[in-house]
Amino acid sequence: MVYDGVKSKIVCTIGPASRSKDTLTKMVDAGMDVARLNLSHEDHKTAKATFEAIRSIDDTLAVLFDLQGPKIRIGEMEAPVNLETGQEFTLSTDEFVGNKDRVSISHEQLPLDVKKGDIIALNDGIVRLTVKTVKGKEVITEVLHGGPISSRKGANIPGIKLSCEVPTPEDIADLDLAAELEPDYVALSFVTCADDVRRLRESMDSKGLERTLIISKIEHTLAIQNFDEILRDSDGVMIARGDLGIEVPLEEVPVLQRDLIRRANVWAKPAIVATHMLESMTGEVVPTRAEVSDVAHAVLDRADAVMLSGETAVGEFPVESVTMMNKIIRRAEQILPKQDPLDVTSPKRMIVEIIGNLTYEAVNLIPDKVEAIVTSTRSGYTARWVSKFRPPVPIFGVTGDVKVARKLRLLWGVHPIPQDQDMENVDALVQATTRAVYERGYISKDKDIVFTSGVKMIPGRTNVVGVFHVHDLVD
Ligand code: PGA
Ligand code: MN
Repeated sequence: MVYDGVKSKIVCTIGPASRSKDTLTKMVDAGMDVARLNLSHEDHKTAKATFEAIRSIDDTLAVLFDLQGPKIRIGEMEAPVNLETGQEFTLSTDEFVGNKDRVSISHEQLPLDVKKGDIIALNDGIVRLTVKTVKGKEVITEVLHGGPISSRKGANIPGIKLSCEVPTPEDIADLDLAAELEPDYVALSFVTCADDVRRLRESMDSKGLERTLIISKIEHTLAIQNFDEILRDSDGVMIARGDLGIEVPLEEVPVLQRDLIRRANVWAKPAIVATHMLESMTGEVVPTRAEVSDVAHAVLDRADAVMLSGETAVGEFPVESVTMMNKIIRRAEQILPKQDPLDVTSPKRMIVEIIGNLTYEAVNLIPDKVEAIVTSTRSGYTARWVSKFRPPVPIFGVTGDVKVARKLRLLWGVHPIPQDQDMENVDALVQATTRAVYERGYISKDKDIVFTSGVKMIPGRTNVVGVFHVHDLVD
């Protein structure tokens, strides 16, 4: 992997446009940190081949498996149609080829889950229906806002908790593939409460995926209501603006984005901002000014990572999209305002957080001399709590475990260095980790580093912070 000094991370969805080794290699060179395999679109055989290609190119690139969750879709249609505002339109759980009057829908319990007056949105919220009556397997609606629909377009029922469980049986089946390949992160779609996350955790643990981390996708109104409990049980969150923007009024999305990132940051959990970030680059080599601003503002909102979806999965310019995103991030980070650590301090004030805070203060109090933070991390815990404070210098996360290194790849400002280390003796540890960073050319002899770690062999017990002159450690 290359180190380019950019701190916010780039998640790229891999698909037909990007799964060749050549394109993946170019995307890594352009700044990709996390490869996302979207299991709503990938069959297991293709996903496996892509996964293996990724691992062979860059052993510390993180892989995120995105589980589909209870995404509802309409069935096949004879031809695309335009629904007229005011017309009647029927959704039925029977299987048939649809037309301008009726279409089949994938959610078996739909007639039980909706009642008169509920809204059903089709095709990314472009078309809106209101339920008039439910008759057996049929839900009869009136078109509130007309527009185009075609085969297999998505459907959302804003604000309603569906009677199916999350994760779904299909998600659990996808975990078998995960168990075989061991991705670093698994994302769960349409989470509504902490129980959903706990069920996924239990299934993953029972399949040997104890060490794979969970990202909850925030794309349902209930996930916003229950955000704190979901966050507590997840390892990170994704602001999944595609579905979220159908569930809540669009003007709420940027406001929620900023608020949810801040709340995730309090607990040092990574937040990914997703969907439509450089959407027009799916077909054009230059993004719109609004898209450029969107990426920059996600950085200024202190997201850990920004995500590309169709741009890299099916677009014409996957590599150019990553390059563009990298440039926007790099520039925006130059004006990232300093933040008062107290504004994001957790109510618990754990030792690891105090160490993270002290590290941040040390860097700021010795401004010109400190070139980097060097953290020796066994579980990734120390690096997470250092990253949380968004220090102005790079954080090198030295770890003996390549699986930990890959997870670190998602965290803001953290550059993982996989290298075995002896954690018994503090002197030897400081020296060996600093050397590992120095030998790669990331720090110079005449500068200082702030070192932080947990010593005395208890994983998750961060208890040391120190300032060292690099010269004293590397000769
Ligand atoms: P999806 O999730 O692309 O899997 O739907 C992201 C979103 O909804 O924004
Ligand atoms: Mn979604």
